[in-house]
Amino acid sequence: MDRVRDPRPQLESLIPYSAKDVRADVVLASNEHPANLPSEIVDWLATRLDRFAFNRYPAPLADDLRALIAEANGLEPGNVLVGNGGDEIIFDLMLAWGGPGRRILDMPPTFAMYAIDAQATETEVVCIPRLPDFSVDADKVVERVAEGDIDMVIVANPNNPTGNLVPETFLIDLLNATDALVLVDEAYFEFSRHTMRPHMERHPNLAILRTFSKAFSLAGLRVGYLLGHEDVVRELTKVRQPYSVNAFSQWVAGKVFRERVVFQQAIRDLMRTRDTVIHNLSEMDGVEVFPSEANFVMFRVEHAPALWRDLLHNHSVLIRDFSRTPGLADCLRVTIGSEDDIQRFLDAVRDVLAARRASQFMTNGAVSRTAEGEEVAY
Ligand SMILES: *Cc1c(COP(=O)(O)O)cnc(C)c1O
Repeated sequence: MDRVRDPRPQLESLIPYSAKDVRADVVLASNEHPANLPSEIVDWLATRLDRFAFNRYPAPLADDLRALIAEANGLEPGNVLVGNGGDEIIFDLMLAWGGPGRRILDMPPTFAMYAIDAQATETEVVCIPRLPDFSVDADKVVERVAEGDIDMVIVANPNNPTGNLVPETFLIDLLNATDALVLVDEAYFEFSRHTMRPHMERHPNLAILRTFSKAFSLAGLRVGYLLGHEDVVRELTKVRQPYSVNAFSQWVAGKVFRERVVFQQAIRDLMRTRDTVIHNLSEMDGVEVFPSEANFVMFRVEHAPALWRDLLHNHSVLIRDFSRTPGLADCLRVTIGSEDDIQRFLDAVRDVLAARRASQFMTNGAVSRTAEGEEVAY
């Protein structure tokens, strides 16, 4: 044959994810930790590397790591599922609680993977958009789940990319209103310090997602975990790939988790830098900054795509452009990096906005068009 037949039609409108394609000196685009693992941990690993069993399959359920995580959270190992990043667990949830004929409730703008995985698994998505200040439309959500036909609800808390938490009372109302699986995505828990863990005993339909990618400098090794009722964890083990979390990642994540107090100072420093970013952006003319409980800040600025391009091409600073996301017109998100990188980012934004004002003054605020027809204010 000189051709290949089409895949499932659901794939037609999906765009492959490719966040890493762009290179820059200062990368503040993916909410990663700015620092590599502490050198004491790397040294500890290095001295034991020659005894590491690369030739053996990993423990399917990462038993050592899940025992550590369970103990730290006052749970049993059967309440913990370790995944190849939180992303894998979201996909597994969609396989087990979603699928054809099933329905999830999503509150955009939020983490895009929920809707992408739903589409890939033919799960219907019921959208209840957030309000203009990015708070959830609590009454509408609780009323909708009470109809009884929603199989899973996902709430990012704090939300990515907007940075805000939902009120705990909303989550409790939600858990009381439905037997749907409620996933509270606490990917930024180490920064926000807010968790629904105390409500797990009373609500078997509550599951919590966490990750090693953000606060623990481990985005490259792909380790995340779910806390949930043992029946929920058991169902997920039916659909997951048996060896999805490789042995090296399990080993390193175990060491990192045991040494997690070492990360506290860096987390506090990042939070202080975040508050500096919020303060500095809020002092700039024409910039609206949103509060954040995480290691990133979202802000709104006129002609955001032009600012994004200017930062990248003229200052080699890469941040994330959300301006084409519904509800996020002219919004950009910057990850909190090292103090030096953040200084470069703030200087670059100031520079671009000052140049903009100067040329607007020269041309009386005229907006010209580039060859591609995109609006750029000079
Ligand atoms: C980063 C993130 C995750 C998971 O990241 P992994 O690297 O796959 O562990 C999950 N949810 C949200 C909202 C995130 O921002």
